[in-house]
Amino acid sequence: MHYTGTIWRPPYEASSLLLEVTAGCTYHQCKFCTLYHDLPFKFRITPLEDIEADLKEVKNLLGAESHLTVSRTFLTGANPFALNTARLLKIADLIRQHFPGNKTIGCFSRITDITTKTDEDLKQLKHAGYNDLTIGMETGDDQALAFMHKGYTAKDIITQCQRLDAADIHYTFFYLTGISGAGQGKTGAKRTAEICNQLHPQRIGANMLTIYPNSQLYQEIQKKTWEEESEIEKYEELKVLVEHLQIPVYFGALGASNAIPIQGILPEDKEKILTVLDQIISNVSEQRLRIYRTTLRHL
Ligand code: SF4
Repeated sequence: MHYTGTIWRPPYEASSLLLEVTAGCTYHQCKFCTLYHDLPFKFRITPLEDIEADLKEVKNLLGAESHLTVSRTFLTGANPFALNTARLLKIADLIRQHFPGNKTIGCFSRITDITTKTDEDLKQLKHAGYNDLTIGMETGDDQALAFMHKGYTAKDIITQCQRLDAADIHYTFFYLTGISGAGQGKTGAKRTAEICNQLHPQRIGANMLTIYPNSQLYQEIQKKTWEEESEIEKYEELKVLVEHLQIPVYFGALGASNAIPIQGILPEDKEKILTVLDQIISNVSEQRLRIYRTTLRHL
């Protein structure tokens, strides 16, 4: 398989076929991010021949019954949805040729990757199987989005995700607990809930900010232009987010950046999740959580 560097995928894509169609990120400017720093280039589009060779390789590996076993494909890279519509449709065609039983195709997308698609493009992509995109919205806090150089605003999140809603393309949000900085976490969480409450994400997955020395954010901290939230403040922030979410949605804090895994369905499990968060805030020491954070070598 033509896999390049570390392959990142959401936890719920564990049983999907992981197909490399891009490597790296088209953007590379988010201050906290070090995810694709192991690559010798910023972004690369995988040649169609390599994609086809990988599909053939998987088909051979799975044998004659392969059409029964691949039902979902997850395209790898930081934001394959940045590819133009013609390319995405071509990739969908290749997947269908090799795995006629494949039902849906997912990938990571930046908000700005949706902006470049017309409503007609989105309709065609949905028809071709694109569904359940994963979007690192990170926060609905405009101040934090601007400081972290995310390249879009809270209003952009609403506009672009309403377009996905209209095209019936489902999506999951990744929220980044801690992104607003010391003293601002609860405000950021409230603003994020306000944005999410106007949209229809299938899931909200929370990751916790973990700052590595090769990030721009680390330099900001050294210059004392930004201050990290304490670990307890990050849990208090998460509690405010859950409290203020009013939509039916799966909520999970499961990735390695979360010292204690939490998940449930809102609104049914809201009280249960809030109780767990209260218990963490009251019973787990800052020092213990900090040790987890500082010894986390890799996300
Ligand atoms: S957070 Fe996502 S969009 Fe931003 S630089 Fe990292 S991979 Fe690219």
